[in-house]
Amino acid sequence: MKYGIISDIHSNLEALNIILDYLKRSEKIDRFICCGDIVGYGAKPNECTEIIRQLDNCYMVAGNHDWGAVGLEDTSFFNPIALAAVEWTGRHLTEDNRNYLKNFASEIEENNFMLVHGSPGDPINEYIFEQSTFLANLPRIKKNICFVGHTHIPLCFYATPSQEIKGIPLDDGTVLEINPTYKYLINCGSVGQPRDGDPRASCGIYDEETNILRIKRIKYDIAKTQEEILNAGLPSSLALRLGRGR
Ligand code: ZN
Repeated sequence: MKYGIISDIHSNLEALNIILDYLKRSEKIDRFICCGDIVGYGAKPNECTEIIRQLDNCYMVAGNHDWGAVGLEDTSFFNPIALAAVEWTGRHLTEDNRNYLKNFASEIEENNFMLVHGSPGDPINEYIFEQSTFLANLPRIKKNICFVGHTHIPLCFYATPSQEIKGIPLDDGTVLEINPTYKYLINCGSVGQPRDGDPRASCGIYDEETNILRIKRIKYDIAKTQEEILNAGLPSSLALRLGRGR
């Protein structure tokens, strides 16, 4: 089985289309793993939600923006720009899409992996940027690999059986050989709002047979996406940050 790993699409239709096209046509993946946040920030929440809905082979968990937009998550601690976008999203989602987002699980376990949006300890809201946060969550990683999103930073932490801990960035073209005796926390980056300084859309490819994970970055039409955000009346900083990848 070959998996395409996506996360944090954030209503960015241009980026989503290009990543899905690559994973289907060039990688011929069998299943998708999506670590949450289909919506929020961008101008195409319904279009992106419908595309994911139509994938019949996708493991999908809820993100804080998905549940924030449909009233299942407290958004009072969102920053003002994220809050403006999540409220805009809530007003624009169709009833069908709203119900679809409401019904996501917050955690899925399958074969040798699990997926959550934030962390195993707090699947919706906790950010794992630091080794110490990974270490605190390690007892809750029940599988060989835990796929996450939320930070929009492509990054891997792993622990060996003797509890040696390492963190490695997952830049474009990284090839990671998965050791079945280790515990991994893997963030394949963000499709629709990268924040590691590389504005290209990010995704991962995991081949269960070879036990190899690869990272792929792909250029998409940022100018068009920025125009859509501005035309929708969303905060202009949400358009600008796409160009910087921050
Ligand atoms: Zn996000």
